[in-house]
Amino acid sequence: MTRLCQTEGLSEDQSEILKAVRVFVDEQIIPVAQELEHSDTYPQEIVDGLKELGVFGLTIPEEFGGLGESLLTYALVVEEIARGWMSVSGVINTHFIVAYLLMQHGTEEQKQKYLPRMATGEVRGAFSMSEPGLGSDVSAVSTKATKQDDGSYSITGQKMWLTNGASSTLVALLVKTDEGAESVYKNMTTFLVEKEAGFGETAQGVTVPGKIDKMGYKGVETTELILEGHQIGADQILGGEPGKGFFQMMDGVEVGRVNVAARACGLAWRGFELGVAYAQQRKTFGKVIAEHQAVLFRIAEMATKVEVAHNMMVRAARLKDTGRRMDVEAGMAKMVASEYANEVVEDSFRIHGGYGYSKEYEIERLMREVKFMLIGEGTSDIQKMIIGRQLLKEYKLK
Ligand SMILES: Cc1cc2nc3c(=O)[nH]c(=O)nc-3n(C[C@H](O)[C@H](O)[C@H](O)COP(=O)(O)OP(=O)(O)OC[C@H]3O[C@@H](n4cnc5c(N)ncnc54)[C@H](O)[C@@H]3O)c2cc1C
Repeated sequence: MTRLCQTEGLSEDQSEILKAVRVFVDEQIIPVAQELEHSDTYPQEIVDGLKELGVFGLTIPEEFGGLGESLLTYALVVEEIARGWMSVSGVINTHFIVAYLLMQHGTEEQKQKYLPRMATGEVRGAFSMSEPGLGSDVSAVSTKATKQDDGSYSITGQKMWLTNGASSTLVALLVKTDEGAESVYKNMTTFLVEKEAGFGETAQGVTVPGKIDKMGYKGVETTELILEGHQIGADQILGGEPGKGFFQMMDGVEVGRVNVAARACGLAWRGFELGVAYAQQRKTFGKVIAEHQAVLFRIAEMATKVEVAHNMMVRAARLKDTGRRMDVEAGMAKMVASEYANEVVEDSFRIHGGYGYSKEYEIERLMREVKFMLIGEGTSDIQKMIIGRQLLKEYKLK
């Protein structure tokens, strides 16, 4: 039953990939998601399966060993995976953003060095802008890279909220550098920091202290990252030139927003599926609850929201695939998909009555997971700021 979340105009290759992922989700993810999430267990077997399916290299060009697929294919794959278990989409998300940053902004040498091993999942990416004192306000980054006499850099500071902070071996790290520019945005640089997987001191001057305990989004780890005089060569600056980090990261965040929209779509889709099924099983006052108009209307509204979010997400992905800037469309898709996912999952929870509050029912997990959609890759307030400011420029009074 897949009337919802259909996408028109897909190629045969895209349809085949999605079919394979859907089977994988139904057979390998959904049956184990509850148990792994409740025990906060890293889904190693699932990750191995995704490697085999080629998901880690989905958007990496064929010349580097990937499948060379579009952002749209990626987003639809993410939607399918999040329908099974949102945390699993988190395992590939930061990896995908780092690969994107390398493809768009990396030097030829950096692409050759990392992309082939990222395509197989041997090198795994994490993406680090946030710090204990900042998330939305990226200009306030205080972790600093100081240039040494020999041209290398020394990085000191504290980063926060690294998804895949322990399992990753390559971190795209946004720091402050002294470029003498007036604009704070031009005094920021992205470094490619190599480290070992795991906790503790994972490279010289790079410590991953431990997992942050979260309300949901379990299984995949989120960590801090402490840098104390980490020595790094100038050849590890993304693109080879300092002072471009902020703009590179904002480009990464733009595709990241489509990705979070896709995750929210997957969660809403699953919320709907669970709600519509339960509504046909549970009886009150002599009939199944789906026959009470209030519940029927809820189902109709949920499905409509699922469709609106899916179509906005698909449109944003398609626009990005044409190479156009699409901060407004990505922001709108992210905001609508996350807010609607939150509402759809809550409606499904209400349909479940008391059982929705029991850990035996999947909707309980979705209720906790969906909250992260409202935060990751920029809150709805931040999306509104981006959308509103851009529209004021375009609709400026003459
Ligand atoms: C589980 C998890 C995983 C994450 N993974 C990563 C990761 O991999 N890499 C990474 O770099 N970061 C990551 N983050 C950080 C995430 O991007 C930030 O939490 C998010 O951007 C919000 O920032 P903040 O938490 O500092 O909130 P704040 O910026 O402090 O915002 C607090 C509140 O104020 C509002 N607000 C702030 N500024 C404005 C404004 N100008 N106008 C109106 N309202 C405003 C916000 O909308 C929010 O409601 C993760 C976070 C979580 C919870």
